[in-house]
Amino acid sequence: MKPPRFDYHAPASVEEALGLLVRYGGEAKVLAGGQSLMPLLNFRLSRPAALVDLNRIAALAYIREQNGHVAFGAMTRQRAIEFSPVVKTKLPLLTEATQWVGHLPIRSRGTIGGSIAHADPSAEYPAVLTALDGDVVVRGPRGERTLKPADLFQTYLTTSLEADEILTEVRLPAMPARAGYAFEEFARRHGDFAIVGVAAMVALDGGRVREARLATAGAGPVPVRLRAAEDILVKEGVDERALEAAAVRAAELVTPDSDLHATAAYRTNLTRVLTQRALVRAVARARGGA
Ligand SMILES: Cc1cc2nc3c(=O)[nH]c(=O)nc-3n(C[C@H](O)[C@H](O)[C@H](O)COP(=O)(O)OP(=O)(O)OC[C@H]3O[C@@H](n4cnc5c(N)ncnc54)[C@H](O)[C@@H]3O)c2cc1C
Repeated sequence: MKPPRFDYHAPASVEEALGLLVRYGGEAKVLAGGQSLMPLLNFRLSRPAALVDLNRIAALAYIREQNGHVAFGAMTRQRAIEFSPVVKTKLPLLTEATQWVGHLPIRSRGTIGGSIAHADPSAEYPAVLTALDGDVVVRGPRGERTLKPADLFQTYLTTSLEADEILTEVRLPAMPARAGYAFEEFARRHGDFAIVGVAAMVALDGGRVREARLATAGAGPVPVRLRAAEDILVKEGVDERALEAAAVRAAELVTPDSDLHATAAYRTNLTRVLTQRALVRAVARARGGA
């Protein structure tokens, strides 16, 4: 199908883009990589009066390391993130997660800002943002605000962004040196959205766990940070029993829905299995293994 008629604007600056969003009074949509928005338009599930295309705003595409975090301009392509040496060194969890995002042509167009603003609960970037407790910077006619994942993701495909706001930057704290990490996911075919995915990071201090991070994709309407499972690792360490206890706890912390792709019980079980797998790999890496 073809999309319904819409006006098209390609502003050269964020200010100009914000002016257009205000002018359309909530009836315009921002276009980033178009990998989620264009199918929605073609199916006529979205009927905006106008598209405000961000692709000509060069100032929105960058990867910068600063003050212990890595900042990404919203229009940074997933493919640029996949091959960024800075990301590989400072945020290897994100490099690994990116390899699960769709296929090469999708990652060549798709952006980090678009993926997070779209808020598909099965998407990898919202899960990594949640695991690492990053920030998103949002600009609108009322100024700039910075949001934590818990304040951003509201439910399926829904964030707290207003219709006249633009997500401009994503900031992720650099992972501790030598932290182990893994992104595990199950999808029916490679490149499909995850049925469930789990992001894990473990930083060891001798035999102790200094820091553990776990978050899910696909196990509920929004990504879930598995804090109580992280606490088990911090208290009990990373022997086989502790990893299993953390995985069992992880499954108790999620409340997925059933849909066309999987039942809630199946997603709950996948959360346990994938948490355990992710932890085994993350711990091996933290210990200097493969
Ligand atoms: C076949 C296929 C498989 C895919 N598989 C996966 C997968 O496995 N994992 C995954 O994570 N994704 C997957 N995707 C989606 C892909 O990652 C998209 O790129 C991403 O979800 C949206 O990013 P985009 O830049 O294309 O945004 P767009 O499609 O342009 O926009 C998506 C939404 O976000 C809004 N938006 C975009 N940028 C901003 C901004 N800066 N500020 C405010 N609002 C904004 C738009 O208005 C729109 O509502 C897949 C897509 C396809 C077609």
